[in-house]
Amino acid sequence: MSHTQSYDVVVVGAGNAALCSAIAAKEGGASVLVLERGPVEKRGGNSFFTDGAIRVAYNNLDAIRKVIPELTDEEAEMIVMPEYGEKDYYDDLMRVTGGKSDAGLAKQLVSKSYETITWMRDQGIKFELNYDNQSFIQDGKRHFWGGLPIKTEDKGVGLMKQLFARVKELGIDIWYEARAVKLIKENDQITGIVVEKDNDTITVNTGSVILACGSFEANKKLRSEHIGEEWEAAIVRGTEFNTGDGIFMALEVGAQKFGEWSGCHSIGTDSNAPIVGDFTKPGDIFKKHSYPYSIMLNNEGKRFVDEGADLRNYTYAKYGREILKQPGHVAYQIYDAQVRPMLRKEYDLEEATFYQADTLEELANLLPVDKKQFLETIEEYNKAVQEGDYKPAEKDGKGTIGITPSKSNWALRIEKSPFYAFPVTCGITFSFGGLHVDPLGEVLDKEEQPIKGLFAAGEMIGGIFYENYPGGSGLMSGAVYGKLAGTSAAQYILGKSAELVN
Ligand SMILES: Cc1cc2nc3c(=O)[nH]c(=O)nc-3n(C[C@H](O)[C@H](O)[C@H](O)COP(=O)(O)OP(=O)(O)OC[C@H]3O[C@@H](n4cnc5c(N)ncnc54)[C@H](O)[C@@H]3O)c2cc1C
Repeated sequence: MSHTQSYDVVVVGAGNAALCSAIAAKEGGASVLVLERGPVEKRGGNSFFTDGAIRVAYNNLDAIRKVIPELTDEEAEMIVMPEYGEKDYYDDLMRVTGGKSDAGLAKQLVSKSYETITWMRDQGIKFELNYDNQSFIQDGKRHFWGGLPIKTEDKGVGLMKQLFARVKELGIDIWYEARAVKLIKENDQITGIVVEKDNDTITVNTGSVILACGSFEANKKLRSEHIGEEWEAAIVRGTEFNTGDGIFMALEVGAQKFGEWSGCHSIGTDSNAPIVGDFTKPGDIFKKHSYPYSIMLNNEGKRFVDEGADLRNYTYAKYGREILKQPGHVAYQIYDAQVRPMLRKEYDLEEATFYQADTLEELANLLPVDKKQFLETIEEYNKAVQEGDYKPAEKDGKGTIGITPSKSNWALRIEKSPFYAFPVTCGITFSFGGLHVDPLGEVLDKEEQPIKGLFAAGEMIGGIFYENYPGGSGLMSGAVYGKLAGTSAAQYILGKSAELVN
């Protein structure tokens, strides 16, 4: 049975991009319906799983204090906060994407980032300083680095809780277990959307649809087709519901594909992490990011990357896919007792899988690896380690000579008992392929003309991220383009109604 309902704007998805667009459309005067494919206990998309790190361009600590007014004068006095201007953000985006990010979309993301985060603050989203991963203490002061000093309070869980609270406060309707399946386009404009809900097919009449329902990272078949066969085996770090529905609905009505369809972001993650994100265990707890202090061996007992090639921020996204290429898609991060206390917090969580032994021989016996080769590789590595000052907080140049691949920094012999092995596999974060939008969030057709009444935001947008993304820009892109798409959609539909009246 099919029945119809009407809204000015329908938003597909209920992650960060979707809820920012729903709020902006409502602020713009539109009646808004949000469709979420998941049940209420699995709402919030990938945004729910994040660490909440959000990248914004800012001038100084005063600018940050407007976003985090809770910061006291005493705390502020202790902080050294280098400027991270629009040019720094833009340059970082271009650097990590090999210069491929679409200049117009990138500029819009960067230049709207600060006003968007203050708008989020006005909506009730709370932010705090990212002390743990983005600062260090020197000369009695806390120095921030890397352009990522802000995160949402209580990570992605807090972000989504506060966004849902605001949506409720504004009286925006949300339908759960409501999967958008088809756009209706008549006379060159969107006129409705078809939704599967409660074993029923419902048509919602609307002149304006905002697609904010993720990319296709949770779809094995599409991963295999577009990114590569081995990607079938990747663990999905976030929601199971981002299977590409929105992208393919838009392509059906003539939208243009854009961006790196063969690319995705991925990392090395605990090999026992759930196969898709578990909504009862959010907070990005399965990553294993201390590998620059390790050596990584595969099942054949061989190393396969320079673990210490650079600071973690610059290698982690590349090394996920290197792990995926290894036999069985697994590798073991090996540490000894000297290094173990320096590992990041995630290694101490009860969810962390690891093996521990008093000798390397015993460790090898615990693992399903080629034991002879495993021990030989470690012995060769230990012999190749050069003397030098070991400085874990900076590139110390303490490397190896005579082995391939070499280890360029942080090379310490693996010699102090007990010894540890942390098994890791590849977890996909999101795929980069998406739709072509203009800087206002309007979806473009093959002639690069806006499809009337169709907008997109968040992961759905192609062309901003290639090969990698600067950490924290996923949430910022969702917020910037979510707000823009919401405003554009409300203006479009209310402008159209006004035309009809006149
Ligand atoms: C573990 C993890 C940690 C991360 N950490 C960070 C971080 O700290 N900082 C950062 O910037 N980025 C981070 N990211 C990336 C970030 O999550 C994404 O870039 C961002 O959240 C995408 O937001 P979105 O709103 O586009 O999509 P999502 O938040 O995924 O929302 C999409 C929504 O659409 C719904 N949906 C899908 N199909 C349909 C359909 N047919 N009908 C109705 N609804 C549908 C889904 O259920 C979901 O609710 C992380 C990602 C993961 C997985």
